[in-house]
Amino acid sequence: MTATVNTRSENASILLIYTGGTIGMMENSETGVLESFNFQHLKDNMPELKKLGYAVSTIQFEPPLDSSDMGPDSWMKIVRIIAENYQVYDGFVVLHGTDTMSFTASALSFMLENLSKPVILTGSQLPIGMLRTDGKENLITAIEIAAAKENGIPIVPEVCVFFENDLLRGNRTSKINADNFNAFRSYNYPPLAHAGIYIKYDTQQIYHPVSRKPLKPHYLLDRNIAILKLFPGISPQVVESILNSPGLKGVVMETFGSGNAPCYDWFLEMLKDAVGRGIVIVNVTQCSAGSVEMHRYETGHKLLEAGVISGFDSTTESAVTKLMFLFGHGLTPNEVKEHMNCSLIGEVTIPDSFRP
Ligand code: ASP
Repeated sequence: MTATVNTRSENASILLIYTGGTIGMMENSETGVLESFNFQHLKDNMPELKKLGYAVSTIQFEPPLDSSDMGPDSWMKIVRIIAENYQVYDGFVVLHGTDTMSFTASALSFMLENLSKPVILTGSQLPIGMLRTDGKENLITAIEIAAAKENGIPIVPEVCVFFENDLLRGNRTSKINADNFNAFRSYNYPPLAHAGIYIKYDTQQIYHPVSRKPLKPHYLLDRNIAILKLFPGISPQVVESILNSPGLKGVVMETFGSGNAPCYDWFLEMLKDAVGRGIVIVNVTQCSAGSVEMHRYETGHKLLEAGVISGFDSTTESAVTKLMFLFGHGLTPNEVKEHMNCSLIGEVTIPDSFRP
């Protein structure tokens, strides 16, 4: 591990984008239900923000959204805010509900091409106004990370998720716990930083842009994507209804273990037929960690023969948003397959045997 610590840069300017989520919610005194509140409430409950010594500006979604209500339109909105303010700020912190944070982080990583500044997503499991909230530490550390520079250069020029103690590459994360403060994991890529007494950055794992091109924001996404999660006993009707959805272009198929699926004739025929109609089917594993290897078992090999491509060690969140992004840009099925077989922004590990 190549570590960098103690990187406080005075006078940094940070834009806080509050989209919604538990962090800014309050309990409705009549129903007991958590509801979004406005940003002023969050600021009132966080005098620490002023003590940080950074110029922190804020923009809030109107109305703030529970992250279950977020999707391509909200991702575009965040991208637009970042693009319009890109030159003015040193870094960006996106306050977001935890439920779909990994989808948003994955989408943003593809939509913000040539990113050279930190975009750190965080949120909390308990609202910021509650005594035991995890929101304050998450927010303060996320701001510190967004402001961190070494020799004038941002240390983490990536879209990341910061939660509890770890800074994770956004497009490698999944939400794994509905209760614990430690709610996110990146099983197939190491943390980029760990926050204890110091924030220790693993500089070798952090992605740095190869060229110094200007930020290129993207706003085109295609929603004609589906997730097909296999289970023992899945019926032909269910598979057929997904693969024959009108307008369908891409499917993320969640398979067993290292990329295995049942060998029923009807199933393989339906896959072949869909691939023949130009639908790109990407194989990702239902396991939390590890990679798809379709050559390993006959049950995986049959998928390869049917024209299914490997998603290697991608998360479902990353594979879904990558397909939306690629089809959104009008790529043909073959072009989409080629791009799925390479890493655009560190979202997937491609084995050496697959590299040209
Ligand atoms: N339902 C909330 C959301 O995702 C949960 C949270 O913020 O943790 O917006």
